[in-house]
Amino acid sequence: MSTTDYDLVIIGAGPAGMTAGIYAARARMNVLLIEKAVPGGQVLITDWIENYPGFPEGISGYDLSEKMRIQAEEMELKIETAEVHSLDLSDTVKQVILKDRTITTKSLIIASGASPKKLGIGEKNFMGKGVSFCATCDGPFFKDKTVVAIGGGDTAVQESIFLTKFAKKVYLVHRRDELRAAKILQERAFENDKIEMVWDTVATGIDGFFGVEGVRVKNVKTEEESVLKADGCFIWVGILPNADFLSDDIKKDEYGFIIGDEKMQTSVPGVYVAGDVRDTPLRQISTAVGDAAIAAVCAEHYIENL
Ligand code: NAP
Repeated sequence: MSTTDYDLVIIGAGPAGMTAGIYAARARMNVLLIEKAVPGGQVLITDWIENYPGFPEGISGYDLSEKMRIQAEEMELKIETAEVHSLDLSDTVKQVILKDRTITTKSLIIASGASPKKLGIGEKNFMGKGVSFCATCDGPFFKDKTVVAIGGGDTAVQESIFLTKFAKKVYLVHRRDELRAAKILQERAFENDKIEMVWDTVATGIDGFFGVEGVRVKNVKTEEESVLKADGCFIWVGILPNADFLSDDIKKDEYGFIIGDEKMQTSVPGVYVAGDVRDTPLRQISTAVGDAAIAAVCAEHYIENL
């Protein structure tokens, strides 16, 4: 095989990417971790984590990300800030195309994560003016104010509870009459006097001039329309894979998440997947780090046999 810049390039520095980097660095692979923003991924904007073993009191998303980053850097993992434009996977030598140059590598781990889904109710007109996807970042702006949170999964429920530290009231708007979130989070939300559940309801628009003044909603059973007066609107209706830079060589599921086998190998030999961007039944920090450990060890075996 002709020489390459790296044995392994990892794309994305969330928990999956950093774990893969730690394993690869410890295996003394020539590895580069590429991240387009700051290391941490979605965990960085997660208020509090209490289901990742080893932290019985819980840990903030920021602190956990920092610990992972420090651990990776102590292993002398090289981390570069850059955005991957595309990949050329037509040859055994794989090309990672960045804005200003192309990197060659023998193997790849895609750990590019996922991003919050938009609703398309005009939220883009209110970004920075009361609409947010991040309670940790923007919650403190809503001290003693009323906010609407939309969604019924772990994120919506957990982050709504966090918002009650600041807001005087949180309307939690969900399209069904049952939450998807973990039962322990549901119990806490139902016990919280500041959270009012708005069941069987979808948001249809956002009202406001300089900023959010209300969220227009519709009850899906009665078809009744109304406005929830609020100063902010947090949207947590699921996630989309960060996979735009990938060509069709890599097989994905119907939602665009990458399909990997039990070794985390994708449809292209030498290309592995880990974390939230993978087609997986569970998206947790613990599953992301598990995926990544497997992917890194399998990538190591792959290049040994080239
Ligand atoms: P999710 O689990 O996919 O939940 C999305 C929620 O939004 C669902 O309740 C869904 O309603 C609702 N929804 C989807 N599209 C909608 C639309 N167009 N209009 C109105 N509502 C809509 O997403 P998530 O909560 O962001 O979580 C993503 C992943 O991260 C999950 O695997 C989750 O378990 C994980 N996570 C875990 C933790 C934790 O362990 N503490 C914390 C955060 C996230 P339906 O229920 O009716 O489908």
